[in-house]
Amino acid sequence: MAAARSQRTPLSIDEALERVAAHTGELATETVALGDAYGRFLAEDLHAGIDLPPFASSAMDGYAVRAADTPDRLSVVGESAAGSPYRGALGEGEAVVISTGSVVPPDADAVVPVEDVRGDTDGRIVVDAAVEPGAFVRVAGSDIAHGDPLLSAGTRLGPAQIGAVAAVGLGAVPCRRRPRVAVLTTGSELRPPGERLLDGEIFDANGPMLSAALATTGASVHPVPAAADTPEAHRAALERALENDVVISSGGVSMGAHDLVRSVGDELGVREVFWRVALRPGKPLAFGVRSSTLVFGLPGNPVSTLVCFELFVRPALLAMQGAPVLRPAWSAARLGTAVPRNPERDDLIRVRVTGDGLGAVLAPVRGQQSHQIAITAQADGLALIPSGTGELPLGTEVGYLPLHRF
Ligand code: AMP
Ligand code: MG
Repeated sequence: MAAARSQRTPLSIDEALERVAAHTGELATETVALGDAYGRFLAEDLHAGIDLPPFASSAMDGYAVRAADTPDRLSVVGESAAGSPYRGALGEGEAVVISTGSVVPPDADAVVPVEDVRGDTDGRIVVDAAVEPGAFVRVAGSDIAHGDPLLSAGTRLGPAQIGAVAAVGLGAVPCRRRPRVAVLTTGSELRPPGERLLDGEIFDANGPMLSAALATTGASVHPVPAAADTPEAHRAALERALENDVVISSGGVSMGAHDLVRSVGDELGVREVFWRVALRPGKPLAFGVRSSTLVFGLPGNPVSTLVCFELFVRPALLAMQGAPVLRPAWSAARLGTAVPRNPERDDLIRVRVTGDGLGAVLAPVRGQQSHQIAITAQADGLALIPSGTGELPLGTEVGYLPLHRF
């Protein structure tokens, strides 16, 4: 990714998002068994292939009756249980024992709950009050009717959506393919967690953090061994990483002599789309493409990595799977204290969130530097403080991105 091709001044967050969106396409469709479809995005609109419920069914345990026969003493002539409907016709003055969800016999038009009935010993019951036609009967198709739209393309499948798809009997659904994402950490100082640090080394926080962040996006993660700060190591790692739909690197995108990601990317045919965004932390973010592969060069400080992931990478991964817009999903809340603005860059400050919905209040955590990932682990969100002079007063409504994602 050559510096020469990129803009002179940092882009705004919105300009950068637009440029990422302009290079982000939707992935192909595949059929996914329902058991594997949690978290996936529908590639097509779905319609109900049956009425739901498929038949008129009881909303209560009780007796299926003909409303016109009530109030009266009725003869119990059989039972409609779950999975075994009453087969006969219901004659005048007759009732059928029925359990919740079971088929209401065609000649019955109401259900009397068991608690509203006096039982007799001789197979007869007494219904003291008149029953409304339709009482406690779930009409066939009252949830969704055969042929009606169930879910639209681009919907992400959570538990309720999976339940609905299963209820109409679909065993598999058309979904966008999962993006294959390579995670490539760079830096000769990095040591995998669990090993012993040698002099001058730090543990690789970004590799595990990015893998965890990716697990919440529907992407499949393909880690590449960390690259030392030599062109050869960068070349080998990046070449391998570029076989995927998306490359996320961390580190090596600043101005230092050992920052090699952009120049090695350039050598390998990555066309830089932008470098640097007016953002704190995260200014040195680089973004490029090689054919359809997106390459996000995230800055190495862990909080910068996380901020850039949430602002740019997550929306791109969701859009590749069919999410309708490539934008971070901001929540709104009010500042619990006045917050100074940065004249040059938008700030993404780490905040604690108390309360919820419109009553949510944001309090900046103490320790807002880009290396402070341990402090960030105590925060709940990233709040956007737009660049400007002076300060945003207490009570100002701002957008924030939640950090607790699973
Ligand atoms: P760089 O942009 O490569 O100079 O990295 C900026 C800062 O982030 C340096 O202090 C690096 O040591 C640190 N850093 C880079 N990569 C990682 C990583 N994977 N985990 C933790 N810190 C990192
Ligand atoms: Mg580095």
